[in-house]
Order: sequence, then structure tokens, then C-alpha cells
Amino acid sequence: MKEREIDHSATAIVRMEKLNKHFGELHVLKDVDLSVTPGEVVVIIGASGSGKSTLIRCINGLEEFQSGRLEVDGKVLEPHGKAGQTLQQIRTEVGMVFQQFNLFPHLSVLDNITLAPRKVRHSSREEASQTARRLLERVDIADQAEKFPNQLSGGQQQRVALARALAMEPRLMLFDEPTSALDPEMIGEVLDAMRELAREGMTMVIVTHEMSFAREVADRVIYIHEGEIVEQGSPEDVFDNPEHERTRSFLSRVL
Ligand code: ADP
Ligand code: MG
Repeated sequence: MKEREIDHSATAIVRMEKLNKHFGELHVLKDVDLSVTPGEVVVIIGASGSGKSTLIRCINGLEEFQSGRLEVDGKVLEPHGKAGQTLQQIRTEVGMVFQQFNLFPHLSVLDNITLAPRKVRHSSREEASQTARRLLERVDIADQAEKFPNQLSGGQQQRVALARALAMEPRLMLFDEPTSALDPEMIGEVLDAMRELAREGMTMVIVTHEMSFAREVADRVIYIHEGEIVEQGSPEDVFDNPEHERTRSFLSRVL
């Protein structure tokens, strides 16, 4: 399905080196190294509680970490969350879609999408609305612009959340189990929108339990266990020929 080429000599968008994260006594991320190249789609898999959410939340500064190096789109995030200015910049350049859609319930679909471009990017109402309508068309819900979140299905809400993130023209998109809160019949429409985004060349880091989707879109699959990257490689390598017993045992439970 890939129509895109990844230039591995390009400067990495995410460069994480020996990152360590603790929640009190709990050592959640252990010397994690992760580099993401522009245009690359990285899928992170692993059991519940293994640190997947924490890992991607570190990338856009939603969680601070205690040691290691992290650079996102050329900006350095300091341990202990020191650089406030950098954090603002990173959140502007990095889009995130959560398991719970986190839409603003009191705003229409259109206003949900135009809010950040108007406030942060200082786009005009006119310009922001045009972009929003174009994005809604792209995620196939152009006719829902005037509705409020609670008038939409879960799958539609998640597509609004995706459009809202894209409205900021992010360089990188992070997804944390974007389909886990959806009824089964709605999972496909959200995965379709993500598939399309991957095809267009968006750089994406995705946590998901949808293994066949992972196999299809991922350039690289990373298996994380108790805060450590145990194994990574192409979907074929990881799914068909896992090297580590832990990976095999995880896959035998989820595939
Ligand atoms: P995953 O997304 O893989 O299920 P998480 O990153 O959410 O895993 O969590 C990793 C570990 O960190 C778990 O043991 C979890 O209980 C713990 N954890 C996550 N968030 C917090 C928090 N805010 N405070 C304390 N412990 C947390
Ligand atoms: Mg999680």
C-alpha cells in the first residue's frame, strides 16, 4: 500500500536516547531509545501497563521524564520538564489523538477544529473554517460540521478529533489506542482515515492493539515489555519471525 519512500538519511523528527521515566518508585521507561524518521509510521505494541502511553506522552511533553535525551522536531525537551517555551512549541507541532476523544463538549464540530488554529496560529475565522471543512471532508463527515460532539457516534467523534489535530498542520501525529473506546463497527472508519494519512506520508507513532492494521501500515513495529523495548523491526520480522520469547508469548495471546 505504501506509495511513499522514507529517506532514512533525513534528520529524525523524534530522537530519544536512554530515556528514563519514574512514577515515584515505579520505573516505567527504562533506557528507551527511539528515533523516528520523517514519513515513517511506527507502531508500538505491548501488554497493558508496559509503558506505551507514557512513552508517547513523553514525546509531546505531557509527561516529564527524569533522565535521557529527547529531541522532537529539532527542539530539546529537558528532563524534569524544564523548558516551558519548548513545550508550547512541541505541542503546536505534534498532534495527538487519544483513546477518549477529548472533544470540547460545549463547542460545535467546526469550533472544535478551528479553536487552536485561531488561538495559537492566529488564523482568521474565515481561513480556519475553510481548512476545517476541507479536513471534515477528508475524514468523511463534511455534513456534521454544525453538530455538537454528543450528537455524533464514537467513530465520528474520533474522526473529528483527528481533523482537529490535523488543523494545526502537525509534523508528527501521535495516536494512543485511538480505536479502543469504539464499538467494533466503528473501528474500521477510524482506521481508514489513519490509513489514508499514512499513505499521504504523515509521520506517525501509533499505539494500537489492532494487529492486522499494524501489519498493514507500519514501517516498523516496536514491542515494549515492562518499560523496555524488547524487539523491533518490520511487521514481517516482528509478527512472523519474532526473535524473543517474550514477543512470541505476547503475540500468541493477541493474534
Ligand atoms: P500502557 O499504556 O502500556 O498500558 P502506561 O504507560 O499507561 O501503560 O502505564 C505504565 C505504568 O505506569 C503502569 O504500571 C501504570 O500503572 C503506571 N502509571 C501510568 N500513569 C501513572 C501516573 N500518572 N501515576 C502513577 N503511575 C502511573
Ligand atoms: Mg495506554
